[in-house]
Amino acid sequence: MSPIEFYDTRTRSRRVFEPLEPGRVGMYSCGPTVYAPPHIGNLRSRLFSDLLKRFLLAEGLAVTHVINITDVGHLVSDADEGEDKIEAAARREGKTAEEIAEHFTQVWRDDGAAVHCLPPEHNPKATEHIPEQIELAQRLEAGGYLYRIADGLYFDTSRFPRYAELAHLDLEGQAEGARIGVVEGKRNPADFAVWKFAEPGVRRLQEWDSPWGRGFPGWHLECSAMSVRYLGERFDIHTGGIDLAPVHHTNEVAQSECGYGVHPWVNFWMHNEFLDMGSEKMSKSKGNVKTLSDLVARGIDPLAFRFFFLQAHYRQQQSFTDEAIQSAATGFRRLQGIVAELAGCDDAGDPDRQAPFRERFRDALADDLNAPRAMAVVWDVARSDTLPAADRRDLLLGFEPVLGLGLDEAKARVAAATARAEEAWEQDPRIDGLLAERQAARAAKDWATADRIRDELAADGIEIVDSPSGPRWRRKGA
Ligand code: AMP
Ligand code: ZN
Repeated sequence: MSPIEFYDTRTRSRRVFEPLEPGRVGMYSCGPTVYAPPHIGNLRSRLFSDLLKRFLLAEGLAVTHVINITDVGHLVSDADEGEDKIEAAARREGKTAEEIAEHFTQVWRDDGAAVHCLPPEHNPKATEHIPEQIELAQRLEAGGYLYRIADGLYFDTSRFPRYAELAHLDLEGQAEGARIGVVEGKRNPADFAVWKFAEPGVRRLQEWDSPWGRGFPGWHLECSAMSVRYLGERFDIHTGGIDLAPVHHTNEVAQSECGYGVHPWVNFWMHNEFLDMGSEKMSKSKGNVKTLSDLVARGIDPLAFRFFFLQAHYRQQQSFTDEAIQSAATGFRRLQGIVAELAGCDDAGDPDRQAPFRERFRDALADDLNAPRAMAVVWDVARSDTLPAADRRDLLLGFEPVLGLGLDEAKARVAAATARAEEAWEQDPRIDGLLAERQAARAAKDWATADRIRDELAADGIEIVDSPSGPRWRRKGA
């Protein structure tokens, strides 16, 4: 068995993964800002951390996974200005911030469940951890890392020499760039708000008392404070989309390493690449699919999206196109069909014969979570004409806890899908009767009658289609 190796953004290298504490893994993933439904790009990020967790569990490790819910403080701009995303949505919808947050937290949970993401061990909300955030800000203040300007308490990045380390930032280049001078009084372009003061005369929906006056936490503070609360001052893995590395994660590192005096705060930084949803790549006539509900409305099984996700390595950009998701849906149906059929086999498998396949599957994932290679093993097994059915069944069901594709329920799922398809067929006594007559003629090898009926139906604009339950009909062009 090869060792587990993951790519770590901070050291820009693949390293052997060993938990800080033998047998246990602490993992933190930046979660949703709950002001809008998650889009399928966010879902890719979620599926990545879920696959990682499932693989570590399969390795026999006890995983504590924390995903936060950002329900305050995430401003429209990364430069500590602009409105709070949740406050803006609440104002727009005429609701309270809590109602907006509650609603979209539920959508996020439902979407995750629909694609079989395991629920995290902890799912803390930023608004429920304000004291922890204030406590961390006090540590930073005591360490001399913060300074106060008109709109808030800021972190002085020049006090933290490793600031550029995680994302390999070019701070001098940045000094010339866009982040300079956005907030008046900032000492360095990269400095960021740890606590924002409530603007005088502006009543925010969410604000709290603090040693520095009423206000609300900067977005980055919650992740530093909540990860420590649930995972300790150092932990194994932090995940998120690659877009978060240069600002959000860099600022998390600055706060945590300075606040708790640790280095490296996180052992492995793992970032997923983007799901490219460029509208030019999407079929315009079919509309731009953005959320899981959009997919479901078009008849795509949420688990087909999980299957689609498994086709790309997490560090590769993946393009979402209509063609790609349709072909994933077809592939997923095919795999489910194979597993459903194998479920009927009662023979005992041979673990020795299965071992090389198990090892190839496991080693693919130990190789920086190479899901496409693991899926190639899945197909080798599913399509094998040399492996006995019992071994194919055992192997595919053995992969299921990592894949999360619902293969253990394939038989029931295929039956339910067939029943749904049945219900969708139109009924008409005359046409149904003719179809039955044609079937009888075919059974009696009376080809002339069978062909005459088919032509008669065709003249009426009816075409005969094969379905799992035998021939059915539909109107041409329907
Ligand atoms: P958000 O709810 O916007 O904070 O995003 C939650 C997670 O989704 C973060 O880890 C983001 O980096 C990630 N993310 C955002 N857009 C995409 C995308 N198009 N593809 C993959 N991940 C994304
Ligand atoms: Zn975060």
